[in-house]
Amino acid sequence: MRLSDEELERYARHIVLPQVGGVGQKKLKSARIAVVGAGGIGSSVIPALAGAGVGELTIIDDDSVEIGNLHRQPLFRERDAGYSKADLALQFAQRLNHFVKANPVQERIGADNAAQLLADHDLVIDGSDNFATRLAVSDACVGLGISLVSAAAVQFQGQVGLFRSKPCYRCFVGDAFDSDDCDNCAELGVLGALTATVGSFAALLAINSICGIGDDQSGQLHLFDGERLSWRAMRIPAEPSCRACGLNLELPRSLR
Ligand SMILES: [Zn+2]
Repeated sequence: MRLSDEELERYARHIVLPQVGGVGQKKLKSARIAVVGAGGIGSSVIPALAGAGVGELTIIDDDSVEIGNLHRQPLFRERDAGYSKADLALQFAQRLNHFVKANPVQERIGADNAAQLLADHDLVIDGSDNFATRLAVSDACVGLGISLVSAAAVQFQGQVGLFRSKPCYRCFVGDAFDSDDCDNCAELGVLGALTATVGSFAALLAINSICGIGDDQSGQLHLFDGERLSWRAMRIPAEPSCRACGLNLELPRSLR
């Protein structure tokens, strides 16, 4: 794979960084990343990855734009209300960078279809707004051996972690949140600038992981307090009895 003169010019501020260089830029170009959710976190992740020159972006969201989304989802405009988020995010990515191949998927991702939708990607960034989806995405990533950046923001609290098979996101959360009736942003509220902060961090984590920049962050959870304006990190221990990555594998039927 080589970079054209147009790409060299476009990514010059990346390539001049010793940590990225031409080698890192080619890694980004050959990367296939799935973004689950074109909402608050996706609104930071998708522009960052498309601008960075990630070769292929799959954008999975079955929702359409509502006016109440706009305070935290700057991918969209008032006139977009009622239209598909996945389609609009695709248009945004392609207008930003025609070198990026973007694939919109207007489906609700869950335990029944996650493995099928996420297969053949190098990395998944999950910015969905509920535990049931995040756990289904995590279980699929464990089954497929795909790295997962899981990101969430609610009220003034954010969390972002990189998981590579073990420990997994389920080791952290446990099994209590598999049902659909968990808390989400609609009920608890969230500050728009917080989702942007968490989304940008998630994109940076993904780019560093693909380019091999910095220390390996897998198994580390980064927590942001938007009132104190401080980050802290904690290491997630692998849970031996985890039903996704533990010894007693009880994966969903679709992953067996
Ligand atoms: Zn686990």
